[in-house]
Amino acid sequence: EQPIIAVRTEKLTSEDESNELLGDIKFEDTSSITVPENLIDQVIGQDEAVEVIKKAASQRRHVMLIGSPGTGKSMLGKAMSELLPVEDLQDVLVYANPEDNNTPRVRVVPAGRGKQIVDAQKLEARKKVQTRNMFLMIIVMALIVYAYYMGQLLFGIIAAALLFISLRYMLPKEDAMVPKLLVDNNGKKKAPYVDATGAHAGALLGDVRHDPFQSGGLETPSHERVECGSIHKAHKGVLFIDEVNTLRPESQQSLLTALQEGVYQITGQSERSSGALVRTEPVPCSFIMIAAGNLDAVQGMHPALRSRIKGYGYEVYMRDTMEDTLENRNKLIRFVAQEIVRDGKIPHFTQDAVAEIMREAKRRSGRKGHLTLMLRDLGGLIRVSGDVARAESSHLTEVNHVMQAKKMARSVEQQLADRYMERRKDYSMFHSSGDEIGRVNGLAVMGDSGIVLPIMAEITPAQSKEEGKIIATGKLQEIAKEAVTNVSVLIKKFLGEDITKKDVHIQFIGTYEGVEGDSASISIATAVISALEGVPVKQTVAMTGSLSVRGDVMPVGGVTQKIEAAAQAGIKTVLIPKSNMGDVLIDDSMKNSIEIIPVSNISEVFEFAMGSQRTRLIEKLKKFATEKKIGINIP
Ligand code: ADP
Repeated sequence: EQPIIAVRTEKLTSEDESNELLGDIKFEDTSSITVPENLIDQVIGQDEAVEVIKKAASQRRHVMLIGSPGTGKSMLGKAMSELLPVEDLQDVLVYANPEDNNTPRVRVVPAGRGKQIVDAQKLEARKKVQTRNMFLMIIVMALIVYAYYMGQLLFGIIAAALLFISLRYMLPKEDAMVPKLLVDNNGKKKAPYVDATGAHAGALLGDVRHDPFQSGGLETPSHERVECGSIHKAHKGVLFIDEVNTLRPESQQSLLTALQEGVYQITGQSERSSGALVRTEPVPCSFIMIAAGNLDAVQGMHPALRSRIKGYGYEVYMRDTMEDTLENRNKLIRFVAQEIVRDGKIPHFTQDAVAEIMREAKRRSGRKGHLTLMLRDLGGLIRVSGDVARAESSHLTEVNHVMQAKKMARSVEQQLADRYMERRKDYSMFHSSGDEIGRVNGLAVMGDSGIVLPIMAEITPAQSKEEGKIIATGKLQEIAKEAVTNVSVLIKKFLGEDITKKDVHIQFIGTYEGVEGDSASISIATAVISALEGVPVKQTVAMTGSLSVRGDVMPVGGVTQKIEAAAQAGIKTVLIPKSNMGDVLIDDSMKNSIEIIPVSNISEVFEFAMGSQRTRLIEKLKKFATEKKIGINIP
């Protein structure tokens, strides 16, 4: 039974959202929250995936889980193994084959029997060896006594020693007949869960070790050199493989064979090893496969393997966010408790500390009225917060610990973006004061972090006689192709017949790998029109937004991060699409240092971003719009 802390399940209104991060949910600290026992009940926000896993476990079907990292794919795999029956588990033994040394025999017994058999056989072998040794000793002693009476003691001792050594090492070894326990499920309370992510062929499919001494009584019997693979360990359980596409095609092919047959013979995986001569009888490997990854994984997967899952299993796309309802907040509160319990070392969270985590979950979702489901990262923040609290010997994790942790737990991308910002500021690549013609502070996203991205536009006489061109240089070409094409429709109309006489050059300044710039179209449009009309742009303003061909400002992603980046760069005002207002959740520390203006139309962008002469520009725009020279909406 799941703990109920709040009962309202309707969607929160925006007032609720901004007022109270925890709504009417009340608790002292997270120690009073019960964590469900079964892993499957601990999974948050992935209801479809949970249903599929339950169904697939009862029908023994394979599952493909596609989605962002840290959304619970391997957790679901583990949870599935808990749902499978334990009674079915089996042990696998491998025996020497006296008839054909290179084909060790394989026997399957109920779980727990394997160990008993091996123990019994070992005992018997030891007894045999003991008897034999005793027998040997008696002969040796007799020999020495006889030699003594014959007056040849020294000779007798030497002869006895030689006899002892030769008999001891030349006779077949008794323990060579003891089987090897290949798969041991003795005392297991759950079906196996085996993570074979990134496994090489040997680890995945089993291997036979190389034997440097292949004869002369020193060799290791071939069955003892057999090692089982992940597919065999996962027999009657779950085999989880993340990023399936990174497995070599041959391995994927073998995996498919294993899936179809339910058995797979083990052989040495490296061709030049003596292990490659050995091939066991078929070893059972009837597992349920969970293939995970992002969309690339689907494309890179061996088509036959993919179609096998498609035909005999389920495919689920994991969610990145969940709706911000009280019910879901409840779940997220429980998530905090879950992570604390699982960690076992960090102190429980106060209500305020949980509220701060909730706020971060909202912020990280980057979407209006949603909470993030990238819970591995959020779990990381919880653990770092707890560690900070522990370092201060606090018996509860307080909100200030979470704040400190947020500073410490900046992702690599964020740190990288910080570095770039510092360096760019040194070279004054962006200006945060004054007015300038044809230059706009755009905003972009890099990883999960925002950056200020200046855009420059220049107008020159056309190089070609027939027509003027819009030329985007540098990284811009790849990054913002779509934005440029969209904007150019508008610009061409603005230029009217002049278009044939002029080239428009657009450039991003100081761009680098990892920048996403599809949301830069209002910045590009503003820069170009500023250059065209000679109207200066305020450098205290930064902007983000996508522009429709009708001049409307459309929503974009990552507004919160972009606003924070602008504030850090010393910019005073940010223009964002009106429809993104709900996504804004900036840190309190920045709230007073930056003004956020929602805009819904290009004329509003001009209104707030252009310096002197802006009225003339807006008038021109309006005139064009009413004369239907350009088909845009002006309010
Ligand atoms: P993935 O396999 O998708 O990369 P994991 O399953 O390894 O992600 O998630 C890592 C950890 O993050 C889990 O062990 C769990 O603590 C937490 N976590 C991730 N997603 C969820 C979820 N949906 N519900 C609860 N916890 C989650």
